[in-house]
Amino acid sequence: MHNDRGLVERRIQRELWERVLPLAHRDSRALSIEAGPDLDHLEPFAPRTKWGAPWATTWFRFTGEIPPDWAGRPVEAVIDLGFHPDAAGFQCEGLLVDLHDDGTFSPLQGIHPRRTNYALDADPGPVVLHLEAASNPTFAGYQPSRFGLVETAGERPLYQFRRASLVVVDLDARALAFDIEVLDGVMRALADDDPRRARLARTLAEALDRVPDVAAARRVLAPALAEDFGDAVRHRSVAVGHAHIDTAWLWPLRETVRKCIRSFASAAALMDDYPEYTFCASSAQHYTWIEEREPELFAAITERVERGQWIPVGGMWVEADMNLPSGESLVRQIVFGQRYFEERFGARCTEVWIPDVFGYPAGLPQVFAAGGMDRFVTQKLSWNKQNRFPHNTFWWEGLDGTRVLTHFPPVDTYNAEITPAEFAFSVTNFQDHGWSTDSLMPFGHGDGGGGPTREMVERARRLAHIDSRATLEIDTPAAMFERIERDADRGAAVPVWRGELYFEMHRGTLTSQLKTKLGNRRCERLLVEAELWAATLGRSADVDDLWKQTLTQQFHDILPGSSIAWVHQDAERILGEVDAEVEARITGLLAELAGPTTAVANRGDAAVDEIVTLDLDDADVDGPVQRLADGTTALRVSVPAMAVAPVEALAVDDRVVLSDTSMTNGHLAVRWDAHGNITSIIDLAGAREIVAEGAVAAALEIAVDHPVEYDAWDVESWTVDNGTALTGADGVSVDVVDAGPLVGRVRVERAFGPSTAVITYELRAGSRQLDVHVELDWHHDEHLLSMAFPLDVRADVAMCDVQFGVVARPTHPSSPWDAAKFEVCAHRFVDVAEPDFGVAILNNGRFGHGVFDGRVRVSLARAAQFPDPLADRGHHAVSLAVRPHGAGLADVRDAAGRFNHPLRVVRATDTPTTSRPPRPVVEVTSDPAGVEVDAVKLADDGSGDLIVRLHEACGSRSRVSVVAADRIAAAWRCNLLEEPESGEEVGDGIVAMTLRPFQIVTLRLRRSARADGRSLAP
Ligand SMILES: [Zn+2]
Repeated sequence: MHNDRGLVERRIQRELWERVLPLAHRDSRALSIEAGPDLDHLEPFAPRTKWGAPWATTWFRFTGEIPPDWAGRPVEAVIDLGFHPDAAGFQCEGLLVDLHDDGTFSPLQGIHPRRTNYALDADPGPVVLHLEAASNPTFAGYQPSRFGLVETAGERPLYQFRRASLVVVDLDARALAFDIEVLDGVMRALADDDPRRARLARTLAEALDRVPDVAAARRVLAPALAEDFGDAVRHRSVAVGHAHIDTAWLWPLRETVRKCIRSFASAAALMDDYPEYTFCASSAQHYTWIEEREPELFAAITERVERGQWIPVGGMWVEADMNLPSGESLVRQIVFGQRYFEERFGARCTEVWIPDVFGYPAGLPQVFAAGGMDRFVTQKLSWNKQNRFPHNTFWWEGLDGTRVLTHFPPVDTYNAEITPAEFAFSVTNFQDHGWSTDSLMPFGHGDGGGGPTREMVERARRLAHIDSRATLEIDTPAAMFERIERDADRGAAVPVWRGELYFEMHRGTLTSQLKTKLGNRRCERLLVEAELWAATLGRSADVDDLWKQTLTQQFHDILPGSSIAWVHQDAERILGEVDAEVEARITGLLAELAGPTTAVANRGDAAVDEIVTLDLDDADVDGPVQRLADGTTALRVSVPAMAVAPVEALAVDDRVVLSDTSMTNGHLAVRWDAHGNITSIIDLAGAREIVAEGAVAAALEIAVDHPVEYDAWDVESWTVDNGTALTGADGVSVDVVDAGPLVGRVRVERAFGPSTAVITYELRAGSRQLDVHVELDWHHDEHLLSMAFPLDVRADVAMCDVQFGVVARPTHPSSPWDAAKFEVCAHRFVDVAEPDFGVAILNNGRFGHGVFDGRVRVSLARAAQFPDPLADRGHHAVSLAVRPHGAGLADVRDAAGRFNHPLRVVRATDTPTTSRPPRPVVEVTSDPAGVEVDAVKLADDGSGDLIVRLHEACGSRSRVSVVAADRIAAAWRCNLLEEPESGEEVGDGIVAMTLRPFQIVTLRLRRSARADGRSLAP
């Protein structure tokens, strides 16, 4: 026999498509079509007609007749709305509905690019089908697109209707097509010189020789499909159905509701045909939409959850970004998620499921575990551009030492199709064969693709035992994790990865769409503040709905800024409404607390005793004050942590002295040149220059920002390397606007190209930091604007503030892993330090930082054109600060807290005050300092217990004392859902405990009715 294998392999593909597949649909007849904007306005519609303006909905009615000679044969409708063949989702979609007599309807099944069939359970006679179709535009090729807003999208129809027909299905012929497709795929996944490859080619050729005798062809293939590889231990690929539905992205939230309905209806329908098939879906928000909009579908889902086929996963409100939300927001993602799943489906989730999120900070393992999930699935790090992550299954160890069992599916996608090629790849790509035999394969088309298809499940059946190295079975993630946990219990050498899972892509999402990010940053802090003041008044803040709205906007394409303009308009509006509502509630609560005197409220967990600027008339305040050029008043106030105090201007024993080029107080001496560039900052106590020799601090830098792909997502290393400093004389004016003695301010206005920046340097009497306020009128296209601080500090790492702690990032690109971290996330500060001296750069509203080569660079603004062509153009304001300090981070953390929570003025009102003394509801002290209070609220169970969540933030072992305004009678440590896990000793009304470095503790305090005389205040 001659070697004609190459020719045979080409023959198989052509004959599968042209000779075998047509056998499956031998009889067909066209359906008549009507279309219109709603069911009352349908008109006759011809195939090949254009339909669907961008973002519009079109209704179709299909009518036809099943002829008598089709009786007893399986019949399907095939509907092709004009799908682009190359994409499984991201385009038009439809929903077949069951129309009820009263005009309402319920979903039957989605119609998607790769799911165009609908099985009819009908006898001969008339057939009527109704379909709601969404003409969502596509966004191709990273090009600026007018489709991102309904106002600019236009009216021109986007799709050309292709086909609507009834077909008779020859089930044996269809099975033959699956047989050939799977064996062909298995063959092609084998090495060229594998003897089995040659045998399979010959077998397939023999089967094709039998076509069109379907039964004979299948008999030829049967032995190859049933090949048995015995009992040898093989890898086990665990396939789980899935549909990754982005909560908003290249479509607005309102369309996601419909995407969920279509995909969930399809996923549920498929279960009836394939009892072995399982489907995972995350995001309590998505289920909530179904529950509200489609109760019948929700009931069908509930029933499938009960029988174990439908598996809620993730335990979170949405699949949130993990870099940008506050720690408390991440907690609430889990609290609201887990509560929902437990209330609706009787059980909490056991796996965190965030396959598509852009990096995972080191505080997460502890948060996941405290939320009841010590297993974690993600896939995104397979996209890393620089380094390949070395494991697929491992213990991920967080900042505090908590470990969660983590799995990266080796198929390197969360939208697998269970092809033989994917199956083979997932086996060869798996990096932990040495100790583990299990891996996950999430399959199903996401984002409008409708999830798993019949074809995928049919392939899974045929692939179950066909590979000599691995089996494939459809099961649940929990089943896989349980086996891995058993392996670990038996002593398997599970690798450990300690510290953050840094994502080597999408670094631009730390900066894109600033207004969405700052809206979130405000709302998540305001919500915590409202809970604090309500608890101080003995009440629940009743802000669950406002929390949920905020949490939805933390979704991993909204908060990162990678969505179309419409999504960000929605986000800014929703977060603006939450902001206004919570502000109003806080104003009311504080009015009750403060009463008839003008007061200041300090929501922070550190006491304030410093010069502040308040929006007050200086005539209203006794004592030393300074009226500032912007109309505010500077004065020294003292307010305990989490407390309200009357406004009193205290004596000040320091002063700011200014000249045309310098500004000094008792701690810092600052100089600038004629162009407003800071050339020197001297820390007077240490007699030490902070600014690197010959350099300029707080200089703006501008760089051309053209990512290779994914414009809003990515920043490239050459972009941050190639910035041009804006330090010249052109377009600059420098003015001293406030000349002390309490506050000195110097205003530098700088025009550059189409944009302008107003930078105000501010030094306050008694302050150890130089504040740098930046106002931008930003009109560049595709540029990155940064502010750089070259520092004369020698440090190998920079400590970056993240949720529930700090993480060290290399200050040098020495190894490939170091070099990849050229843009990193930090929340409120970045610190570089020698053992006894450091300099922190604080911020009140940015996340992207560079820390290489002796300087801290803060990314201020980008201007991507895809997917929102006008992203970020306009006005922005942010404040940064340079703060030298001694050993440790506690001072920096406190300062960063105050920088982000300026005191709030409470106007005198005639609101009746509470009879309670304006004492903090709770006081927390720690030794050493550095314990942070994340939330103070009444328990969600209505018991009246006080919940205090706190964590050690600086990496020390810390002794913590807690007292409350009402005497503490009993205390428990709880999980995130406020359920007691262990009792905490209370001695004389004081809870005293030791926190490990970065440990999070959720305390439940039961209080007696009487006020406690104790205070921890010095
Ligand atoms: Zn996604």
